[in-house]
Amino acid sequence: MKDIPNLFGSMVFNDTVMQSRLPKDTYKALKKTIAQGTHLELDIANVVANAMKNWAVEKGATHFTHWFQPMTGITAEKHDSFITPAKDGRVIMEFSGKELVRGEPDASSFPSGGLRATFEARGYTVWDTTSYAFIKDGTLCIPTAFCSYSGEALDKKTPLLRSMEALDKQALRILRLFGNTEVRRVITTVGPEQEYFLIDKEVYLKRSDLVYTGRTLFGARPPKGQELEDHYFGSLKPRVAAFMRHLEEELWKLGVLAKTKHNEVAPAQHELAPVFSTTNIATDHNQLTMELLKSIANQHGLACLLHEKPFAGVNGSGKHNNWSISTDAGTNLLEPGETPYENAQFLLFLVAIVKAVDEYQDLLRVSVAGAGNDHRLGANEAPPAIVSVFLGDELTEILEAIETGAAYQGRQKLEMEIGATVLPHFPKDTTDRNRTSPFAFTGNKFEFRMLGSTFSIAGPNIVLNTAVAEVLRKFADTLERAENFKEGLTALIQQTIREHKRIIFNGNNYAAEWVQEAARRGLSNLKTTVEALPAFAAPKSVEVFTRHQVFTETEIHARYEILLEGYCKTLHIEALAMADMVKKEIIPACVGYQAELAQLLCHKKACGAYDCTLEEHLLGKISTLSLCLLKKLELLETAALETKSESDALNLAKFYRGSVFGAMSELRLVVDELETLIAKKHWPFPTYADILYSVN
Ligand code: ADP
Ligand code: MG
Repeated sequence: MKDIPNLFGSMVFNDTVMQSRLPKDTYKALKKTIAQGTHLELDIANVVANAMKNWAVEKGATHFTHWFQPMTGITAEKHDSFITPAKDGRVIMEFSGKELVRGEPDASSFPSGGLRATFEARGYTVWDTTSYAFIKDGTLCIPTAFCSYSGEALDKKTPLLRSMEALDKQALRILRLFGNTEVRRVITTVGPEQEYFLIDKEVYLKRSDLVYTGRTLFGARPPKGQELEDHYFGSLKPRVAAFMRHLEEELWKLGVLAKTKHNEVAPAQHELAPVFSTTNIATDHNQLTMELLKSIANQHGLACLLHEKPFAGVNGSGKHNNWSISTDAGTNLLEPGETPYENAQFLLFLVAIVKAVDEYQDLLRVSVAGAGNDHRLGANEAPPAIVSVFLGDELTEILEAIETGAAYQGRQKLEMEIGATVLPHFPKDTTDRNRTSPFAFTGNKFEFRMLGSTFSIAGPNIVLNTAVAEVLRKFADTLERAENFKEGLTALIQQTIREHKRIIFNGNNYAAEWVQEAARRGLSNLKTTVEALPAFAAPKSVEVFTRHQVFTETEIHARYEILLEGYCKTLHIEALAMADMVKKEIIPACVGYQAELAQLLCHKKACGAYDCTLEEHLLGKISTLSLCLLKKLELLETAALETKSESDALNLAKFYRGSVFGAMSELRLVVDELETLIAKKHWPFPTYADILYSVN
């Protein structure tokens, strides 16, 4: 049995290590920088760097890297060794404060959405002191933000930190209004639940679609899918259990609070959830988790699929972003609380979030948009593309009572008057969980459930933090001007409920009626990425992001370009991979099986065999389908070629969604039917059944 408390964080330059290895003054100065974001003087950085290096070298590290999160959605690292030539022809291990604090990687090969054309190729990485350095594979990793020569953010971390600051600033104003003078910072916390598939590596390597695109582009339904729901929470198979155990240990060493693991609904699908932490750290940790999921699976002869929809007809994978706001003292502001005073404050934050989700539903939708997630949202497993809030019956009743000024006749039969006297003490679990809602209140936090499994959680949290910051700003403006705080507060909460209750929906979000109901309520239903993305570049988005200094207008337009471009590239690769598989693998299989059947037929006829119906029927069917296959392939290739003539990014994305995606779907239908007819020995790659049940 390993000593887990000792193992935990053993590869992290955390507070304990800092305290034991840094001189007192240096430690104090660094802590101040971490807590208050103050500038770190170079002489102090030098001391920190040296201590870090000594610690890392003792742990076997030879290199360091500025670890950052460019717009590719994954992490980037460029390794430099600690070696420095010494006079005697030998080397010493060195790491300077300058190297710790700032790096200058060449930014030119990362997506920049046009920022590169107007600005220099040079980029800077800057240490995010709030996220601890750690050792991964013999390299000391320094979590950093990444920006262009002229300061434009080129990564996901910079705007995330800015959005956290925006929310901090506005939430503090609100807390001060409630008389709280002690809180110094308000932070957002996140616990992301991560879903993934595990399949056998050998099976994986035989599917070029999985290798190139992360999802199967073909595949007929297996006889057994998830119908019996016997996988969910089922006992872990020994190979999976060994993998998970190994993964957890590696995560723990890196200080990632991996907590929960279980089998998910689909065969071969699993989930991992950590204990929540501050949003930027949760983001770093989720990136590390995704990376380790893949690399450790590999060590176990497995392949981890993070794609949102690796298999058609089988549940896809998402990520649940559990989100809350808390004070630096650790008080959760979304905890309903026991006293009326706290309740009124809770209610104000609650309705602020409701308003933020309603007003910025399009931006929240954009934040979860992507080619992969298009296969999930709106399908019968994930929340629909319509954003709504679940509050549960009790909170909804309370809000209704407040709106009308009526006495709350709820379970506890309490009358209430906000702020002044009683508000019910909300028991946490008076309502059932609603698993279909995209944005659900779950007792003391909100669970944003629309994220795709491959997503960096930075994007959705940037939107969430900024939208809530904006509403809190307006609330603070109003309340700071109010002559009577309590009256102003009551009026504000009432008005907010009245104006935004349309976003609250406690029913079944998967039901067809909800789509109609949502339309009646005027909620937007942006079904695809292409429909969703333009909202990001719209004036309303520019207004809110620039006001809170989360993005500059240039950064928004650059990111919009990157998103559109990424979408088109994904579909392009999928189209090419499909065409390639059809030509190199599927057509030869059709030809081979037909030849075998034809030969048999000839043979039977030559010797005057009695009945050839089966062979003739099969051959006829396969040859008709093969012809159809050829036509559909041509259609796809023509569509893929036509994309070359479109230069406008949005129009191009529309074309990909319409023509290319359409042609891909038609081609797939034919191939999937052929798969059901062609003999197993001729079928060129593993089927769904082979893949989904490949791990035993
Ligand atoms: P579920 O039933 O959805 O699995 P859990 O109660 O297990 O919900 O929590 C899911 C996630 O929510 C965990 O990662 C947990 O750490 C996180 N979580 C709990 N409290 C908070 C909070 N205050 N802020 C952010 N995340 C939280
Ligand atoms: Mg959950």
